[in-house]
Amino acid sequence: EFVMLNGEVMSRETAKVDIEDRGYQFGDGVYEVIRVYNRKLFTAAEHLRRLEESAKKVGINVPYSIDEIQSMLEELIERNKIVLGIVYLQFTRGISPRKHTFPGEEVAPTFVAYTRHVGRPAEKLEKGMKAITEEDIRWLRCDIKSLNLLGNLLASQKAAESGCDEAILHRGETVTEGSHTNVSIVVDGKVVTHAADNFILNGISRQKMLEICRRNDVPVIERNFTVDELLKADEVFLTGTTIEVVPVIEIDGKPAGNGKPGPVTRKLQQWFEDEIKELCGS
Ligand code: PLP
Repeated sequence: EFVMLNGEVMSRETAKVDIEDRGYQFGDGVYEVIRVYNRKLFTAAEHLRRLEESAKKVGINVPYSIDEIQSMLEELIERNKIVLGIVYLQFTRGISPRKHTFPGEEVAPTFVAYTRHVGRPAEKLEKGMKAITEEDIRWLRCDIKSLNLLGNLLASQKAAESGCDEAILHRGETVTEGSHTNVSIVVDGKVVTHAADNFILNGISRQKMLEICRRNDVPVIERNFTVDELLKADEVFLTGTTIEVVPVIEIDGKPAGNGKPGPVTRKLQQWFEDEIKELCGS
């Protein structure tokens, strides 16, 4: 298995990161997960633009262009013979003696990337997922895809311990997003999803889903909705890089919508799959 460390492809065993890497000590870094279908990166430009934006928001200087990063990731996919899977990549602020303030310009970010074989979640796509609702205790810059994921992890773990697949987070009455997905509801044939502000990560799958809706004349409204609206919605679905578009069939032990994947969600799933075929081939 090959990994990428600071622009060099090497065996996983050879790749070592110092214990004073700021990613390791502070979660001081940003990351992306990109899908690989049919050996090709799906929506790579969108993910890499978001990575650049995340890095800029926290003042990490990424020393490569988007095209350079993409070529490196493509090399890694080829070396590891990934047909269906993911690429993970992260930039941390680099290695320097532990201190809260940033190190000087001379300290270069640490760039790590690796691949993994990951199938499509066939059963979840077909049958849907169960979710819990959970208070969103994260910070106020959820638009940054930061390595600091403790708030997400605590929620995700609670969902798992409740026998569920995802935690749907809410700040007070307002639903924000999932612990690692975006949440949308369908009401009277319209798709409603939280606006892309600082309270959510603007998911690439969310953006793709919205684009697909607009192209197919499905009305979409980007506005905040409440937990009450979530529980009373006709349909609920999640979007995310590894899960694509997945129906939610149960929330807090009660049926979501009518407890079965709804017709709008089904259509979106089909169109999403068509888009994958269109962009990556079958
Ligand atoms: N929201 C959070 C908190 C996430 O961590 C993720 C993805 O990991 C998403 C939403 C979905 O984003 P994307 O569709 O870009 O994978």
